[in-house]
Amino acid sequence: MNVTRRTLLGGTAAAGTLGLLARSDPAQAITGPAIAPTMGHSGAPTDAASEPFSRSPVRPGQVQAFPLTAVRLLPGPWKDMAELNRSYLYSLPNDRLAHNFRLTAGLPSAAEPLGGWEAPDCELRGHYVGHYLSACALLHAGTGDAFIVDKAGALVAILAECQSPDGYLGAYPRSWYERLRQHTKVWAPFYTYHKIVAGLLDMYEHTGSKPALSVAVRMADWADSYSRSFSPEDWQRVLLVEHGGMMDAAFNLYAITGEEKYRELAYRFEHKIIFEPLAANIDRLAGNHANTNIPKIIGAARGHELLGDERYGRVAENFHRIVTEHHAFCTGGTSNGEDWQAADAIASQLGREAEECCCSYNMMKLTRQLYRQRPDPRFFDYYERVLFNVRRGTQDRNGMLMYYVPLQPGMYKTFGTPFKAFWCCTGTGSEEYAKLNDSIYYRNDDAVYVNLFVPSTLAWRERGLLLRQTTTFPAEERITLTFDSAPTRATALKVRVPYWATSGGTVQINGVAQAVELRPSSYVTLVAAWRAGDVVTVELPMSVHHSVAADDPRVFAALYGPLVLAVRLGTEELTTSMIYGGYAPQGNADSFPLPTAASAASTDWLERVEASPPYTLQFRSKGRGLNHQLVPLSEIVDERYSVYLRAEAAV
Ligand SMILES: [Zn+2]
Repeated sequence: MNVTRRTLLGGTAAAGTLGLLARSDPAQAITGPAIAPTMGHSGAPTDAASEPFSRSPVRPGQVQAFPLTAVRLLPGPWKDMAELNRSYLYSLPNDRLAHNFRLTAGLPSAAEPLGGWEAPDCELRGHYVGHYLSACALLHAGTGDAFIVDKAGALVAILAECQSPDGYLGAYPRSWYERLRQHTKVWAPFYTYHKIVAGLLDMYEHTGSKPALSVAVRMADWADSYSRSFSPEDWQRVLLVEHGGMMDAAFNLYAITGEEKYRELAYRFEHKIIFEPLAANIDRLAGNHANTNIPKIIGAARGHELLGDERYGRVAENFHRIVTEHHAFCTGGTSNGEDWQAADAIASQLGREAEECCCSYNMMKLTRQLYRQRPDPRFFDYYERVLFNVRRGTQDRNGMLMYYVPLQPGMYKTFGTPFKAFWCCTGTGSEEYAKLNDSIYYRNDDAVYVNLFVPSTLAWRERGLLLRQTTTFPAEERITLTFDSAPTRATALKVRVPYWATSGGTVQINGVAQAVELRPSSYVTLVAAWRAGDVVTVELPMSVHHSVAADDPRVFAALYGPLVLAVRLGTEELTTSMIYGGYAPQGNADSFPLPTAASAASTDWLERVEASPPYTLQFRSKGRGLNHQLVPLSEIVDERYSVYLRAEAAV
């Protein structure tokens, strides 16, 4: 976007109060069934393990995700994160969320307006409401939470009242789309429009809400008639303004309704200046706003998945490879100052506004789509890095979320506040932590794939299979998979062996060592006549390895297994204050050089020491003049850190 978010934030920062999240334990309010039935598209409960938007064809060699209703988190850090997020979702009153929609529709509202990007004078207002509906729908699917589905359903009913007869719905007047038509300055109308449509579609898909589908269909009809009124050339100028995942939402609507006009609407949102170089495998990403563009590519991947559009398949695969190989930091995160920089610029881009969290969210979404179509375990090598380093660790103890993940040495983490932030990343974060049970398991006719090491249960109902994964990974290097109920037909267990498992691993079935080889970035396939009570134990030893910056061989980060380690740089001169409507332990971070290490070529400079709480893993540097403590980046909070180091000796 042309207007930087930082500029616009200046007027909205206000004194926030910590600890506003105190409320009754949400668990006490949950009255829904432990496992909610999947709602089919008819709105009737079904037990079918349907793929999201069931019109997606599954072709030979592809895999399917299990629906969120089939997987439950077991107690542990992931479930704790999900519960903090649930608590936050509970805390946001519908009347406050709906305030700007009601005023725009000419309806009365006495609610206290929200702040930050939902403030009545912010040009993105309404965006979070869409994310909120998505988050509530996902939370319901993943937990059976009955309270949240009623609350979100009531919000949908309010939005339906605010919708114009011609389908327009927004928290600001439609005249902003005339600014878009005139090519005059406006932030990102279709970005916000997409969030709302997507939230409504998630409500339909995950909770069976027909009213939500009806509002979404009518919104899409308005967007269709608006966008038809442009010449193709003029429309491409409109697409220069951030428009989120409009293509993805329109493809999804086509999948649900089968109506051609939504397929055409999706294709109309093809932004040619971005798609054409990618179709030719050319990297022209430098200088583009990262999170504006990732959702466009998610639309391309969806078009490939749904329609077999090969060009879109190339656009999505090429983009994913270009970003992950040439524009990603060691965490998997991308962007600096919200933009993509020159290819392979890492050491030169360790900024205080590096790797926007939305980019991580959207890259994970794209990764899931591509994996379904081509189940290469390397997709989950990437996914795991992002999940364990910059999804975990970007939520604070109050459930508040981060915007950027600073990489400038001496910086610190900044989190939002309950009612005065509502950044884009608050929205994507609210969704992310509502579906931490997603993508742990996949399936095809022959096998269950275990891709993530997260304590959870899987119920493959058609096959009678109940699988339980217990682990404190990455605190321990062992994963235990127990068949609480055996499958009714032959089903292999395919366990992902990560790229970092280079020190050999072992597999035991009921305590008996198996003669299998565990090769990094592959699956180990276990075939047996499974019986209830069978226990599979997988050991995946971790070790230290480096991620060296492509633009400076002396600059590198250290990892242990999937965990990026960060050097602790203390709390000196930090005071808690407000920034961007969030809070942070503020202080000058300009005088911190990169911490040094003896060499990037060898990991000898680092030794593991006993961890002292709250850290679960701790290392220290050794050698002349060095005395750094390193802990997982995800465990850093309220202190300065550096992810990257500088080697004293050249490689
Ligand atoms: Zn963001």
